Amino acid sequence: MKERAQRAIAACRQIARMSEEPGRITRRFLTPPVHDVHELLRSRMESLGMTVRTDSAGNLRGLWQPDGARSQRLVLGSHIDTVPNAGAFDGVLGVALALEWARLAQELKLPLTIEVIAFSEEEGVRFGVPFIGSRAVAGRFDPALLGLKDADGVTLADSIRTFGLEPHKIDEAALDADVLGFVEIHIEQGPVLESEGLSVAAVTAIVGQTRLTAEFRGQANHSGTTPMRLRRDALAGAAEWISAVETLARQTEGLIATVGKIDAEPNAANVIAGVARVSLDVRHADDASRKAAVESLLALAYVIAEKRGLTLEIARQMDQPAVPMDERLTARLADAIEAAGLPEKLMTSGAGHDAMVMAARVPTTMLFLRSPGGISHHPDESVLEEDIEAALNVGRRFLQRLAAEVG
Ligand SMILES: [Zn+2]
Repeated sequence: MKERAQRAIAACRQIARMSEEPGRITRRFLTPPVHDVHELLRSRMESLGMTVRTDSAGNLRGLWQPDGARSQRLVLGSHIDTVPNAGAFDGVLGVALALEWARLAQELKLPLTIEVIAFSEEEGVRFGVPFIGSRAVAGRFDPALLGLKDADGVTLADSIRTFGLEPHKIDEAALDADVLGFVEIHIEQGPVLESEGLSVAAVTAIVGQTRLTAEFRGQANHSGTTPMRLRRDALAGAAEWISAVETLARQTEGLIATVGKIDAEPNAANVIAGVARVSLDVRHADDASRKAAVESLLALAYVIAEKRGLTLEIARQMDQPAVPMDERLTARLADAIEAAGLPEKLMTSGAGHDAMVMAARVPTTMLFLRSPGGISHHPDESVLEEDIEAALNVGRRFLQRLAAEVG
């Protein structure tokens, strides 16, 4: 597996050089370097005997159908776009490993039809809307999105045309019913596996998310002349609530809550803040637990505001339900982890992925690989060769079992 692991890493490093910006990895949806990525992946797919096409959403797709195999496909893949100044492995590794899994299936002569998809867009950087590629594949692309404009005023439809594709045919990118399931291999992008000394995990769910803004209003006043007992300090109220958010999240299993942004007005050293506006981001794999946590945090905010003579206004921005992965497919993946001689580890994903969109269409699961240092969306993002070998060993077991069941 060593040679295969090194080949996957080398592919990621090579693709990392295909960038919009010299010296940094930035590759937005269907920008010129994507042509180079397609060329490289297309030649890899063709050398594996795959039938290759680019659909109208810019997804590169290689289909392997061995003689005598059923037409029902296992779909593997991840995205090839990046955030600005990205690392080399987010998304791309999932495509490189999908090709290695397909190669294993071929070498083991498994009667499995496999489609590998390099999704064109996941990060939402160019048009402000994520998952363009997987929305199309899952049959959930809203044609109204074609009118979105990037920072240069280019519409999504024009970006597709400029790439040499036909936006009005996006419907044809949708998967038909002939799919066994979708597996996305991805780096964890967090510190959990590293902290537990583990190589890989099967993902049980992508957590749900609530985002809101809480605005505390008091009275701005002179910091020197206003006695402490006569203040209505909005920033101090917000600070008390921020601590409470952290305390509740630490005490609640599976709850992640963050206040990442704060605006104070007038934001001056010698003025008591009259207004403090803070963000709240709450995540949990269980929707009821997330909602309950949000409600208790809001109740707490009102108590704090009342006690301090502040008013409070809440603006909700997002309520996105959790997306459970397919139970059977995830159990199969977990079994394969165990069969590969690794500790069986199940975890949730705190970040969104193409798998979230695909799950609405086909049975879906994810395999996470350890992120050294927990670092991602950063040039220091890396992977360990041994973890890639582990992911390949898991793939071998997974594919063998799947082939035995459906063959
Ligand atoms: Zn990603």
